[in-house]
Amino acid sequence: MQLRFIGCGDALGSGGRGNTCFHVTGDDVNFLIDCGASSLPALKRFDVARDGIDLILITHFHGDHFGGLPFFRLDAQFTRRTRPLVIAGPQGIETRLAQLMEAMFEHSSKTKQRFDLSVVALNPEQSRSFGAIKVTPYPVVHGESGGPFLAYRIEAEGRVIAYSADTEWTEALIPAARDSDLFIAEAYMYDKVVKNHLSLKTLEQHLPAIGAKRLVLTHMSDDVLSRLDDIEHLAAEDGMVLVF
Ligand SMILES: [Zn+2]
Ligand SMILES: [Zn+2]
Repeated sequence: MQLRFIGCGDALGSGGRGNTCFHVTGDDVNFLIDCGASSLPALKRFDVARDGIDLILITHFHGDHFGGLPFFRLDAQFTRRTRPLVIAGPQGIETRLAQLMEAMFEHSSKTKQRFDLSVVALNPEQSRSFGAIKVTPYPVVHGESGGPFLAYRIEAEGRVIAYSADTEWTEALIPAARDSDLFIAEAYMYDKVVKNHLSLKTLEQHLPAIGAKRLVLTHMSDDVLSRLDDIEHLAAEDGMVLVF
């Protein structure tokens, strides 16, 4: 399987990075994890065939994680997509997505799609399968608005990918990412502990308990980006491809 970072930036585009969007492909799977506001132009820049994507998993309702969905849907409509699409995310996703569509393109939420679109709400710690992909959401901690907030443990083709989503440290990240082949963790701050986001130094304390085979840092603010030369972990970059 491979994962390409379509966007690995924070909400503010720190370092010129795009908003969060990861593209995972394998023999039997083709899906996105998050679809932040800048995702559609980035998918086009990296020449990703959008009509091959079966599933978009959304971690929470902040614009840098789900603000790209209206553009993705409109692009699918205008390019005459026929392949069914599933968009899955936290409880409330159907309403939040319709509100977002209306705010950005009036009446667009009511346009009849040429393709089958399913919008599926996921519950914490209730696994759900989408074709060859098994998804287990875990509740994470990211403030008062834009939730519920879900980290994901994703199993497919004998591999486990875990993504922390945006969160301050929470013990839920241990079962979410335990022994995973690839753990994508937000590292918004270097050592300063702030509300709603994770600092690298806090994350490092818990890495032995998590035991992930590979760690990649994402959603880095300028605070972390300015120290990348001194950080021993792999840091995501837009366009980076990992094979695992
Ligand atoms: Zn974010
Ligand atoms: Zn967020």
